[in-house]
Amino acid sequence: MAIQHKHPSKAYSIFYLKCPRCHEGETFSTGSWSFVKPFDMMERCPKCDLNYFPEPGYYYGAMFISYIWTGWFSLLFVGIFTWGMGWSINSAFGMLVLFMAVNFVYIFRISRLMWLNINVKYDPQAIEKFGKTDAAAGHQH
Ligand SMILES: [Zn+2]
Repeated sequence: MAIQHKHPSKAYSIFYLKCPRCHEGETFSTGSWSFVKPFDMMERCPKCDLNYFPEPGYYYGAMFISYIWTGWFSLLFVGIFTWGMGWSINSAFGMLVLFMAVNFVYIFRISRLMWLNINVKYDPQAIEKFGKTDAAAGHQH
């Protein structure tokens, strides 16, 4: 698949942790597996200036989203290893716990991105419309 300049898919925003409105700006400044400031989300999109924290407790809903999808994911994960690959239940659960531990930060982050994508629509012109024209990269307080 060719990589396009614009990325209208919500999945792209979620799994690459990009701003849900412009799909260009980052939402977290550090890498998901660097474990440096893992839960420090940026306050605004550096590209289109979308406010990631429109109200206090905004990400409360993200918690429920993460319960739902990690629940289904866990069932599927254990199912594949036990029925599909013939592992014992204990081994499959051990693998699941290990997988969750390694990817904990990323799981936390994509849950927030799922929540943002439910609430914010993609706008291909977001940067032209809302972005700061003098936005020199690195020009921050
Ligand atoms: Zn943006």
